[in-house]
Amino acid sequence: MAHATPFEVHVQKEDFKFNASHFVAFRGYRERIHGHNYKVGVRLIGERIQDDGYLLDFGDVKKAVRKLCKSWNEYFICPLLSDVIRIEEVDLSGAPHMQLTCEDNSLFVFPKSDCLCLPISHATTEEMSVYIWWKVRDMLKDNDVDLSKRGIRTMEITVQEAV
Ligand code: ZN
Repeated sequence: MAHATPFEVHVQKEDFKFNASHFVAFRGYRERIHGHNYKVGVRLIGERIQDDGYLLDFGDVKKAVRKLCKSWNEYFICPLLSDVIRIEEVDLSGAPHMQLTCEDNSLFVFPKSDCLCLPISHATTEEMSVYIWWKVRDMLKDNDVDLSKRGIRTMEITVQEAV
């Protein structure tokens, strides 16, 4: 039976976390490289409870976020769309590396396999959470979980920098 009021579910788990290094750079400013433990949270708002009694199979969401966190753990976050960092893939010592040249002429070189190259402009929690939103949606789709078909009208992703 359809329920009239929206339902809200917040999923935050101990293992929804990853650690990564980054620095945020924009015109005239660059942070020094440093690291964080990032915590990810998911909030779902649904219009109705499904016939099976659930808003959504949380297992699917947990699986997707857990998988993403695991695959993002212990990398340098490389913001490929930065407008202030020149990012090039270079072949050094026989292996691919990411070379980042900043406005202040500082140069960072990392093995490509140590980099998490994301299509974002700044390695901020805001831009990362938007990107994670798309990733989680795609992962759910790949598992045949269609959020809109299950009456989910809102999925909110939060990313926190924990100490
Ligand atoms: Zn930071």
